[in-house]
Amino acid sequence: MDVTSTIEINKSAYQNNLTFIRSLIGESCIFSSVIKGNAYGHGIETFAPMAEEVGVNHFSVFSAYEAHRFKKVSNGESTVLIMGVADSTQELEWTINLNIEFFVFDLERLQKAVKIAKQLKKKAIVHIEIETGMNRTGFCVDELKDVIHFIEDNKQHLDVKGLCTHFAGAESITNYFRVKKQIVVYNRVYKFFKSNNLDFRQKHLACSAAIINYPQTINDLVRVGIMQYGFWPSRESQMKYYTKNKINTNPLEPLITWKSYVMGTKAVAVGEYISYGTTVLAETDMKIATIPVGYAHGFSRSLSNQGKAIIRGHRVDVIGLVNMNMMIVDITNIPEVEKGDEVVLIGQQNGITISVNSFGEMSHQLNYELLTRLPEDIPRKIIK
Ligand SMILES: *Cc1c(COP(=O)(O)O)cnc(C)c1O
Repeated sequence: MDVTSTIEINKSAYQNNLTFIRSLIGESCIFSSVIKGNAYGHGIETFAPMAEEVGVNHFSVFSAYEAHRFKKVSNGESTVLIMGVADSTQELEWTINLNIEFFVFDLERLQKAVKIAKQLKKKAIVHIEIETGMNRTGFCVDELKDVIHFIEDNKQHLDVKGLCTHFAGAESITNYFRVKKQIVVYNRVYKFFKSNNLDFRQKHLACSAAIINYPQTINDLVRVGIMQYGFWPSRESQMKYYTKNKINTNPLEPLITWKSYVMGTKAVAVGEYISYGTTVLAETDMKIATIPVGYAHGFSRSLSNQGKAIIRGHRVDVIGLVNMNMMIVDITNIPEVEKGDEVVLIGQQNGITISVNSFGEMSHQLNYELLTRLPEDIPRKIIK
């Protein structure tokens, strides 16, 4: 089977990022590696075993489906936490049977979990998610009495391990007051549980941005996604960290390189149009190269006449419209380019870099969005 591009995952960059994150969260805090969204595009099946190899033993996923995928490749010694969907009886049975932990944010799920745990003669290991102001998932303050009663009545079927919440944008100062309020609500709710004789082994609130901007929220566990992959949650958080710590080099290193190759080259005479339509007119004699990657492979069409690639250590321009499965770059100034040459779409070649950030800015996508949109069928491989 011909593959038209590959994604390389750099293991030593990952170790570097882990060391950095550990320096921020301290020795005793549990690091949960967030691998939702196909491990932010890095590929669960590639990324998770590599993470286990370097000592990570706690993983957070969005759904039972992702937990299945993780379990298939895991060494079997890691804890898995589902932060979102595990709704069908079948999925909950599987989850509870394998001691997979999960968020509970409504009474319905709590009741269902207890019912299934009872049948299985197991305890469901749950993390109570609190609505603190994001207004997404989580128990509201006025439901807490019912939750506490229900937990008390069903103690023998429940291991109530965690109390958690998620911030509504800790990466931007715009949300400062909202996030601050969320922290207050969380602490108040924790006290309320405690005064009702319910304590938790794992209190957790912090995501990547909170570790940087609200270090007081680093508690028993942190759920870290984007930073472990070598990206800042926002430019603003990066700058804040740099200024506060008087540094000007990036302590994080992206793991990902996305590569393709030159499918063919050709000369185009002055006066000719290139690719579909009339968006590029050759104003001189030109040389172009085709690359077998298009919007169907995750290279956004909005990068038409905008995107960049690296060939033979030169940054080249994407010219014309990005097609479904191909794009064209201008190699007029590097005539030595040949069919089969390596093309870097994201990452480094000979000291030249195309960062996910710049790529994302050009296509108006967040890091998060761009990464998770990299198709699952692009082969991933570990390097170093
Ligand atoms: C995605 C997610 C995280 C991780 O967020 P990052 O910004 O990538 O660190 C943490 N907690 C929850 C509930 C999430 O959905």
